[in-house]
Amino acid sequence: MEHQVLQRGSDWLDGAGLRPTRQRLTLAALLVGDGKNRHVTAESLFAKVKEQGESVSLATVYNTLRAFCDVGLLQEVTVDGTRSYFDTNTHDHPHFYWENDGTLTDAPANELQIVQLPEAPEGTEIASVEVVIRLRPKA
Ligand SMILES: [Zn+2]
Repeated sequence: MEHQVLQRGSDWLDGAGLRPTRQRLTLAALLVGDGKNRHVTAESLFAKVKEQGESVSLATVYNTLRAFCDVGLLQEVTVDGTRSYFDTNTHDHPHFYWENDGTLTDAPANELQIVQLPEAPEGTEIASVEVVIRLRPKA
């Protein structure tokens, strides 16, 4: 991998105080090495790792993604209650879920207006609101 790509990955880990082990660095470089935000599943990232000729197991990819979430480097977006996507953009923003190919992309946040939310039940507060807009080709 290019030096700049690895450097971005390394800086990203650094920002969260994570030690840049070889595996973490490989995944970090694939996630943020080009300086762009992306949405991955453990499976899609695992496929990318294999393309690089690195030997990291799917379980390790999954656990590392979880660890990145735990320190706030990634945001997890769940679709269907089963598919987890990991987003390098950790700010609140809406998503498009493309049902035809199972991908997740950002939806324009400036076009979303949430006028009112139900009041949180007694003794609770709203932690976050996830907006996933499901898309399918027009019939
Ligand atoms: Zn996103």
